[in-house]
Amino acid sequence: MNAEIIAVGSELLTPHRQDTNSLYLTEKLNDLGVEVRFKSIVGDDVEGLTAAAKLAMRRSDIIIFSGGLGPTEDDLTREAVAEGLGLKVQRDPAVLAKLEERFAKRGMKMSANNAKQADILTSATVMPNPLGTAPGQWIAGKYDGEERLLMLLPGPPHELKALFEAECIPRLRARIPPQHIAIRTLKMAMMPESQVDARVAPIYKTYTDVQTTILAGAGEIQLQLRCRKDSLAEAEARVAELAEKIEDELGDAIFSRKGETIEQIVSYLLQMRGMTLAVAESCTGGLLAERITSLSGSSRYFLGGAVVYSNELKTQFANVPKAMIDRHGAVSREVAAAMAEGIRKRCVASYGIGITGVAGPSGGTEQKPVGLVYIALAGEEGTQVVERNFPGDRKRIRQFATQQALEMIRRALV
Ligand code: AMP
Ligand code: MG
Repeated sequence: MNAEIIAVGSELLTPHRQDTNSLYLTEKLNDLGVEVRFKSIVGDDVEGLTAAAKLAMRRSDIIIFSGGLGPTEDDLTREAVAEGLGLKVQRDPAVLAKLEERFAKRGMKMSANNAKQADILTSATVMPNPLGTAPGQWIAGKYDGEERLLMLLPGPPHELKALFEAECIPRLRARIPPQHIAIRTLKMAMMPESQVDARVAPIYKTYTDVQTTILAGAGEIQLQLRCRKDSLAEAEARVAELAEKIEDELGDAIFSRKGETIEQIVSYLLQMRGMTLAVAESCTGGLLAERITSLSGSSRYFLGGAVVYSNELKTQFANVPKAMIDRHGAVSREVAAAMAEGIRKRCVASYGIGITGVAGPSGGTEQKPVGLVYIALAGEEGTQVVERNFPGDRKRIRQFATQQALEMIRRALV
């Protein structure tokens, strides 16, 4: 079965509020084996909502509205959905009495506009809302000959969650055939998206029952494999089979098979080998150390290092000869290597990493443009330096540089 979520509220169309309800609902629906095929955000206007309701009823099995059930003028979901579906709304005396009771309990008098929260669509079942005034509404019925499940839920996230969990999930479970979704995420570092796709598309295209998505970040590609079947074992078997073939093709390029971050993999490998790491960072300003130490327990393998932004500190803390900087410039293959070797020695670490580059947006020259970064890894077996021209803004270039460094140490350890 497929679902569609319609988040209602003009505030969700501004840059200041995010629709988080649909993320929650998607997760819960996926757990039930339901795929979300459409999501939309509609402002508080009757015409837009009516059109959205009609469209959703035509194309989706399960339709969930979130928001617009409040007592104010701009809360229009009830009326608009009724109009779109050719239903009526009727004030429900029992719901009205509950509302009045709720206000009375708090020693408050209910204002007249709250009464419209007792307006219930014909054929709807009322789903009580223990945390707020707007009850949810559930309709199971036929629309143009097709079976449809429709839910109207209140917008405040804590109310929506409580109501969905208590009222909607049991109803959905009883109505939808048991289905399961298996998901597997494979991650690769420092590989272009097009290159990954060229190699794996011929494989995943033969698995038409597994949905394969490629997500690209700064220096990281994720391949997400999703399969929906009647049994979880069946879905997992299909995903595992495809994953295995992709792993055969990409080999060591895959650093994660169970969703781990590259920091976690590097942590695991360093600990397994009983090795330590120190870093000397220039253009990344400590970002690499930040990423490594974001993991609890990193003191077992990360000794520390230095942010050597000035030339003087490159010499003082990482033993980079002043003459070398004068000759090659601070952003150079030689200096990156010397930083890695220098910090390794000073910190008495198994590995040292040096990063120097031009993060921009200013400071680039023709010979050394913005995005040029040297990343060096020094170890017992010698020093390797990678020269890269990273695209993007300052933030992205710095992210790329740390990703490259983590990938280099990972490769050295596998
Ligand atoms: P409503 O039910 O439209 O009166 O919404 C009440 C409150 O819930 C408002 O503060 C909204 O910003 C919040 N809200 C409504 N819809 C969403 C949503 N999709 N995601 C997160 N918050 C929401
Ligand atoms: Mg609203």
